[in-house]
Amino acid sequence: MIRFGGDYNPEQWPPHVWREDVALMRSAGISLVTVGVFSWSRLQPAEDRFDFAWLDEVLDLLHGNGIGVCLATPTASPPPWFTRAHPGAMPVTADGVRLTHGSRDTYCVNAPEYQEASNRIANELAARYGQHPALRLWHVHNEYGTTCYCDHCAPAFRRWLSHTYGEIGLVNEVWCTDFWSQRYGCFDEVLPPRATQYLSNPAHVLDYRRFSSDAMLTHYLAQRDILRPYGVPVTTNFVLGGWVPVDHARWAREVDVVAVDDYPESVEGHLAARAFVADLARGWAGGQPWMLMEHAPAAVRQADGVTRALPAGEARAAAETYVAGGASAVMYFQWRAGRGGAEQWHPAMVPLLSELAPIGRSLATRTPVRVESTRALIYDEQSMWAWQSPHLPTPFVDYTAITRRWHHAMGPPVDVLPIGAPLEGYSLVVAPALHMVPAALHKRLRSYVADGGTLVLTFGSGLTDEHSRTTPGAFDDLCGIRVARHRPGECGVRGVRDGRSGECGVCGVRDGRSGECGVRGVRDDRSGECGVGGVRDDHPSERGVGAKQHRPGEYGVWLDEIDPQDATVVLHSSEGRPLVTEHRYGRGLVRYVAADLPDPTPWARS
Ligand SMILES: [Zn+2]
Repeated sequence: MIRFGGDYNPEQWPPHVWREDVALMRSAGISLVTVGVFSWSRLQPAEDRFDFAWLDEVLDLLHGNGIGVCLATPTASPPPWFTRAHPGAMPVTADGVRLTHGSRDTYCVNAPEYQEASNRIANELAARYGQHPALRLWHVHNEYGTTCYCDHCAPAFRRWLSHTYGEIGLVNEVWCTDFWSQRYGCFDEVLPPRATQYLSNPAHVLDYRRFSSDAMLTHYLAQRDILRPYGVPVTTNFVLGGWVPVDHARWAREVDVVAVDDYPESVEGHLAARAFVADLARGWAGGQPWMLMEHAPAAVRQADGVTRALPAGEARAAAETYVAGGASAVMYFQWRAGRGGAEQWHPAMVPLLSELAPIGRSLATRTPVRVESTRALIYDEQSMWAWQSPHLPTPFVDYTAITRRWHHAMGPPVDVLPIGAPLEGYSLVVAPALHMVPAALHKRLRSYVADGGTLVLTFGSGLTDEHSRTTPGAFDDLCGIRVARHRPGECGVRGVRDGRSGECGVCGVRDGRSGECGVRGVRDDRSGECGVGGVRDDHPSERGVGAKQHRPGEYGVWLDEIDPQDATVVLHSSEGRPLVTEHRYGRGLVRYVAADLPDPTPWARS
């Protein structure tokens, strides 16, 4: 069976609606629902008081109707009583602002009071429901992603650095602290990368992101180890996006099943984006089945903020895309839309059951697909983090968008792999814009090619080591070229930055469609083309990054000026510049793509 269902929030509705819900669920082929994600304030109304009666009734009702439960620990949203009692456990931004409750995800995973409260509610849930017959899966927390810079985090970061590097001298070396007089005399002098006068040290920021990932993983592991003795698999739902400081390839080793949430950002490209995520999740799962824990029912909330309904048939196409990538569950957020609250307009399943129920009934009769591929694409979240640094020669390289374009160009089936995955057995490996390449990976890539593999590298590959230290010419011998100069894109994307009219201004409009842009211009009280580009670029969010995907011109966002040495040029630009080269290395072949080509399809094949 491929499980089918979604997030279910019965605490937002009176009990008579629960009975209607389970009847509808039965008719729609729902086999699994996620319960309790944001229920902390109902489960523990006060520090010394618990109330499980309503959840008892919900779980019994679901079980009585043959519906399994993915039971969440509610630690992603501490109740107001907690934040009032422990204001020091609230997260602090890089600017020094301490956040308060009123939304969700207000916590510092390094605050002892929050750790203690999290483990306490997890223990209570485990003791009460660990043997419940409806229980199929534990769902720890929700979408880990809150980064904090507080005074709990500062000493924890220092301990992480001490554990990672041993002595402060090595931190100075790998962070290149002689630049701008940042040399540290001892660990006590190190702070989180809080707001400072100008650009932060990129290696410092990178290590803080790694530390944040490890700190959240520690929080997850504490709960996992509380829940695991009950014999039911434990996971947490990975949320994808440039803002997430979670190294999912590392985390994937600590979950019993990889579970991801997926929210593509355009209707036009949603199936290609879903296929990439499916192959990525399977890569994190080591080729094993994985779960789609959340996606929006028959709709896409686009990068421009507009939620658009999918055309008829596209919801099924979306589900089939995940299944073709090895999904063992297709789940939605959410079963029934809330009557109020910040996500009351988020699409829900109930109004769409005539379209969704046939999907569920179909999946109930099927088993997860086992995907076999001889071609692989490398996707490294830490390289994505590195590409986000504001100190780079251009802010317009969207690593994930570039990698997705190569994935689409390769065509199915493709395994999307983290950098540590074995490469043996693949006839083709593509590694687009792989910014950070540790020495061990350099060695493995060479061995892969020497043994007969075909490797495709592109502009922006191997720019630095894992500490953001430049490694000029690192791939020159492998590619049979010399990279003479990096030339970040100079045109087209200007509109995103300065909002000028004309061709560049159009590029600033993310999707180039005038109708919706006009709406945005009005809403944001800005008129005309320039206003739209300017408005979007003001947001330092992932959407802003999305606006950087436009690649007008022959070279896109980047061109490496290269001198072929032993390599053969197989594509020139209209100016006669070498754009694609091929080089025999050992028994294999290395192809180097020096520019951000609009269509890399011809170079994405063996
Ligand atoms: Zn903190």
